[in-house]
Amino acid sequence: MIVSSAKPFEEIIKLLKDEDDIFIIGCGACAAKLHVGGEPEVLNMRQRLEEAGKHVVGWCIPSAACSVASFDSLVKKNPVIKEAKSILVMACGSGVSIVSKVAETPVYPSNNTESLGGRSQGEVVPELCAMCGDCKVYYFGGICPKGQCPKQLLNGPCGGSIEGKCEVDPEKDCVWELIFERLEKIGRLDLLEKIWTCEKAEG
Ligand code: SF4
Ligand code: SF4
Repeated sequence: MIVSSAKPFEEIIKLLKDEDDIFIIGCGACAAKLHVGGEPEVLNMRQRLEEAGKHVVGWCIPSAACSVASFDSLVKKNPVIKEAKSILVMACGSGVSIVSKVAETPVYPSNNTESLGGRSQGEVVPELCAMCGDCKVYYFGGICPKGQCPKQLLNGPCGGSIEGKCEVDPEKDCVWELIFERLEKIGRLDLLEKIWTCEKAEG
């Protein structure tokens, strides 16, 4: 899941200051699950834009904003989009980029894209993976220090953690504590004997 959050409305209005006849595109995937691009948020955005004096020509929520085949495919389901002079995408940067690729009009983002994360037990878990293109997360018990350690340390903790919390971000647990606990639990502490010699961990 791509984790994104809603920009402040004031910022969106500033972005759209020279625009009118806006079409809003939400996202039925990550952004909907995160409540920043599903139907309630899109309808709320339409209302707020109209209250701010903007004309909203219509809206839609494709199954995923990052997977739009063509502008024609959007028109087929939402003919009114042809009247739009600009598009506001309530999704992550991938969704904005894909819509920009197919649309002739200017396309604006309503969200800030933050990280590759997930959701578990009703909670959003951000920054799980740094998308390094060379996955070695197994060696760390499924908890990635490239994504979750601010210093991206691959050979153990920095030593600055206090009571299990990260010295860079005391709100978070030190990921190396979590890695150790996890490897201990699955009986694979031996994996810690491996020394990683470069940033792009070689296994
Ligand atoms: S090693 Fe970490 S950053 Fe790289 S792909 Fe795997 S989980 Fe993502
Ligand atoms: S305290 Fe832990 S998570 Fe924080 S920077 Fe040091 S090793 Fe990384």
